[in-house]
Amino acid sequence: GATIGILGGGQLGRMLALAAARLGLKTHIYDPAPGGPAEQVADRTTVAAYDDAAALDAFAASVDVVTYEFENIPTSALDLLEAHRPIRPTRKALAVSQDRMTEKTFLQDLGLTVAPFAAVDSAADLEAALGTIGAPSILKTRRFGYDGKGQARIMEAGEAAAALDAMAGAPAILEGFVDFTHEVSVIGARALDGAVACFDPGENLHEGGILRTTTVPARLSTAQRTDAVLLAGRILNALDYVGVMGVELFVTPGGLVVNEIAPRVHNSGHWTQNGCVVDQFEQHIRAVAGWPLGDGSRHSDVVMENLIGAEADRWPEIATDPTAALHLYGKAEARPGRKMGHVNRVVTG
Ligand code: ATP
Ligand code: MG
Ligand code: MG
Repeated sequence: GATIGILGGGQLGRMLALAAARLGLKTHIYDPAPGGPAEQVADRTTVAAYDDAAALDAFAASVDVVTYEFENIPTSALDLLEAHRPIRPTRKALAVSQDRMTEKTFLQDLGLTVAPFAAVDSAADLEAALGTIGAPSILKTRRFGYDGKGQARIMEAGEAAAALDAMAGAPAILEGFVDFTHEVSVIGARALDGAVACFDPGENLHEGGILRTTTVPARLSTAQRTDAVLLAGRILNALDYVGVMGVELFVTPGGLVVNEIAPRVHNSGHWTQNGCVVDQFEQHIRAVAGWPLGDGSRHSDVVMENLIGAEADRWPEIATDPTAALHLYGKAEARPGRKMGHVNRVVTG
């Protein structure tokens, strides 16, 4: 069988490796940090850094195809890898999603609705952006943000200076605040031959910028559900994408607004492990290995709850719940805000 190289050794890498193992495929993890969740279930090379040229050469030589579980991979590393092996999803997907300005511009050019946005590199930029976009709005770093980190809300113009300080000099983007009723996401997949399959949209609840729960089915009309899946398909096709992608959406009375895309398996798709015959991790492995996709249909209603920090200590009680499928990532230290595992509660009715 083929060997799949995975850049990044966190819980997403771990669950990808487990899915690959079920299909008889090997995985090889590339991550400078030792002791991560993925290396407990897959091979890992000891490497100095993400741009360690010799290590990248050796890694590429040991795998058939390269994929990734996080989007902030240095371009230099991708150049080195691509000289040897295909990278799936395509580099275009990474380039677009690494920077919120590029991402929003790409989505808008596709004809999709996004929050009003403007680049902010200075106090003058922010003043001008607030003049057109207004408040409430959110200032975000263009790169490296996750779990709501690198964001500052501006409820009124007087808060602009403090928000800019919170960016610590990093290039930023101002986004108008979207007055949504709820948030949903579509986990979509595209195969090497261009076939597309999407999972049923899930409804996401965030707390303090971190995903708390995902519930399927989401509260959506048939028309909204169709819209959500079709727009995900458009994004996948436009990027000539191979693999699984997460598309985060705001539901508003005026229609769906795209928040952001993630060129990888996504926390809001973890419910598929216990709600679908082929889950998002297997789907991604199938796509990057050039296999046919699973169809994505949902056989059960599921509520996925993240176990964050000390919440994972509740696992013995969860383990006695007959509806609960427990997924723990094998992380040693339960720091506050750290995703330690999740539980999928399967609702039968
Ligand atoms: P992730 O961990 O999903 O990558 P992130 O750090 O990239 O998170 P966003 O998804 O941009 O952050 O924002 C986190 C949450 O903040 C969103 O899910 C939403 O609840 C809220 N939010 C972000 N942007 C907006 C907006 N323009 N209008 C209203 N709410 C927003
Ligand atoms: Mg994000
Ligand atoms: Mg997000």
